Amino acid sequence: MTCPEIPKAGWYIAGASQVVTCSSVCGNAPGVIDGGWIAGSGEHLLAVGTEREVREAADLDDAERIDAAGQVVLPGFVDAHTHLVFGGSRVDEYLAKAIQEDPDLLRVRGVQTGIAATVAATRNADFASLLSQTAGRLSNMITCGTTTVEVKSGYGFTVESEIKMLEVAKALGNCLPVDVISTFLGAHGWPPEMGKAAYIDVLLEEMLPEVARRRLAVFCDVWCEDSHFDAAECARILSAASALGIASKIHTDAYSYIGGSDLAAEIGAVSAEHLNFTPPSALQKLAAVGTIGVVLPATDFAVAHSHPFDPHPMRQAGLSLAVATNCCPGTWCESVPFALVLACRRHRMLPGEALIAATLGGAKALRLSGDRGSLEPGKLADLQFWNVERWEDVFYRYGRKLVTRVMKRGRVVVQDGCLCG
Ligand SMILES: [Zn+2]
Repeated sequence: MTCPEIPKAGWYIAGASQVVTCSSVCGNAPGVIDGGWIAGSGEHLLAVGTEREVREAADLDDAERIDAAGQVVLPGFVDAHTHLVFGGSRVDEYLAKAIQEDPDLLRVRGVQTGIAATVAATRNADFASLLSQTAGRLSNMITCGTTTVEVKSGYGFTVESEIKMLEVAKALGNCLPVDVISTFLGAHGWPPEMGKAAYIDVLLEEMLPEVARRRLAVFCDVWCEDSHFDAAECARILSAASALGIASKIHTDAYSYIGGSDLAAEIGAVSAEHLNFTPPSALQKLAAVGTIGVVLPATDFAVAHSHPFDPHPMRQAGLSLAVATNCCPGTWCESVPFALVLACRRHRMLPGEALIAATLGGAKALRLSGDRGSLEPGKLADLQFWNVERWEDVFYRYGRKLVTRVMKRGRVVVQDGCLCG
């Protein structure tokens, strides 16, 4: 399917049942304009409001009309936490855990499990194979409304394979209509052939300088968790990344609390992610320095987490949140809408709070809220159209794709639910 080019004289969207801005001025209310209009020029939004407001703000005489046909228009999702680039599948492991099968039975069948299995499959996949496996997943994400996605490395654990993952992420951004923001997560674990201390040396002396030299990552992430990396090790890695101009993110408190969220607050990390076991005192510290809390409802669902994240103390602490998919071999979720359904039904996030967290919150977690995440004049025209009557249907009607059209930087890239060729 071929999609139309951006009209030169501008465009406007009319006929929507609702336009939902997710603008930062709205708090936890997502900013609903019944019958709202949107005008744009090229990649950017010119005006968002009622028909009268938009007609006053923009000259629509020669602009092309896009008929929203009674649908709901939302900002594109900003999925701020994924491990999208990986080789292979761990479906056997997932099913064995789901039915609580004895892990020894998998071993007897010769099925590798955990990060080690994915590291082996990712190392074995050549660049073209890894690109094609990942492009399939990313295409699905776009048709579910995602217009910006963060992608982490962290299944290579050698200089060569970590660089390969980041090069794949970069290539994806060049070949698909989505902005890909890359994160170096060399400290996701360490390779079987090397101890942790020796690996940290390689990470600091070889990987980080090479990632920086090739400009392959905006962020550096670490997994600060019991039996992964401790807070001192994480501080060392993130400080070295920061000296190279790569900003900090931290995976932490998913299964234990060993001070990762306190470290995130101390160094003013851009985001702290998972946060299942984070105590209120650390949540307050994070909120005070403006670190964004990234919560991952699909992971808590996939692993049947015994301690799912709780948005209530986060809200009380005043922590800004992002909801993301954490798409990875253990949480094969390509759909932000699925994560949103879980965020509300299982974690009791408020619908408006969750929607803002998947749009503006995601943009904040990637330091991109200046140009995306909400529908406001001057921001990028990253939009999605839902074939529903009210925005709350996003949380109510699930199990079927309801996104009919996606616009990325002013261009229609999904039409009738399908990615344009
Ligand atoms: Zn993760």
